[in-house]
Amino acid sequence: MAVLHNQVLRPAGFSELFPVWSRYPDAILFAGGTALIRSQGRELPKLPDNVLSLEKIDELHRITRTERYLEIGAAVKLSDIIALGKIVPGAFSRTLRGIAGPSIRNLATIGGNLCVCGDATAPMAALDARYELRSAGGIRWISANRFSSLPMNLQAQELLSRIRIPLEQWTYTIYRKFCSPPENDGGVLLILVQNQKDILAKIQIVFAGHTLFRDKNSETFLEGKALPLDRKEAFHYRDLWKTYLDGLGKPGPLLRSKILNGIEAAILGLAD
Ligand SMILES: Cc1cc2nc3c(=O)[nH]c(=O)nc-3n(C[C@H](O)[C@H](O)[C@H](O)COP(=O)(O)OP(=O)(O)OC[C@H]3O[C@@H](n4cnc5c(N)ncnc54)[C@H](O)[C@@H]3O)c2cc1C
Repeated sequence: MAVLHNQVLRPAGFSELFPVWSRYPDAILFAGGTALIRSQGRELPKLPDNVLSLEKIDELHRITRTERYLEIGAAVKLSDIIALGKIVPGAFSRTLRGIAGPSIRNLATIGGNLCVCGDATAPMAALDARYELRSAGGIRWISANRFSSLPMNLQAQELLSRIRIPLEQWTYTIYRKFCSPPENDGGVLLILVQNQKDILAKIQIVFAGHTLFRDKNSETFLEGKALPLDRKEAFHYRDLWKTYLDGLGKPGPLLRSKILNGIEAAILGLAD
């Protein structure tokens, strides 16, 4: 049978999705569609020739919670995650509230956001989330810390299906969103801190923009230290991050100084 073009395909489950996708291998997944139409500047947005809508796949709309994890289907809307309230880790919900306006958040999905390395990439990496990826061949899981650099690391005809977020208590969450128009570069800086009886038990610092930055070595430098920190330690910590970014040779100077200043201000806030 001839394969028709300009189709909007709406499979009703994974069992329909993969056969349809192999019949239309050029079909583009459509979740909320907000990133697909962004920056088109047309009155009527132009869609890809063949569109594979995720709307009717129930598994992608599920939200479950266990004692240790919150699991969210990739097609859940950003506004529905925010509406879950306190069960959503603060870093995640704060970041989602900073994405666009309510009308976009009512359409945009968490899967679509992560697949364009949007702002939600930062909390997912900082919270050590894991992603379930599905293809006709089966399921694989990868760490959010390994799924965050463009080009995306999805294989052909594979989709992001579920996000598993560990539920941990954080004493402080610091969120900063930067835009650096001259370099067309920006992103979200997140700093999570656990204070256990005036000991800095855990710290996780992530910047996610076009690339994900996380220096796990410098995190261990601060862990186990008494709070408040010594100011010298706070400045040394900033220098560790500077060395880390110097080694990577990115981002550009403006964004780099914003990240370093943001980290310095946050760590000085933990010092006496
Ligand atoms: C006015 C405006 C403001 C915006 N502001 C922000 C902002 O502040 N921060 C921000 O991060 N983003 C922003 N965006 C970008 C975008 O809207 C969001 O990132 C949104 O979350 C994308 O989700 P979506 O469901 O609409 O994705 P879609 O547009 O449906 O898809 C985006 C891409 O991901 C692919 N895709 C979607 N779901 C999956 C899946 N489950 N598995 C594999 N691939 C998939 C699609 O094929 C497509 O290539 C903005 C967009 C607009 C229009």
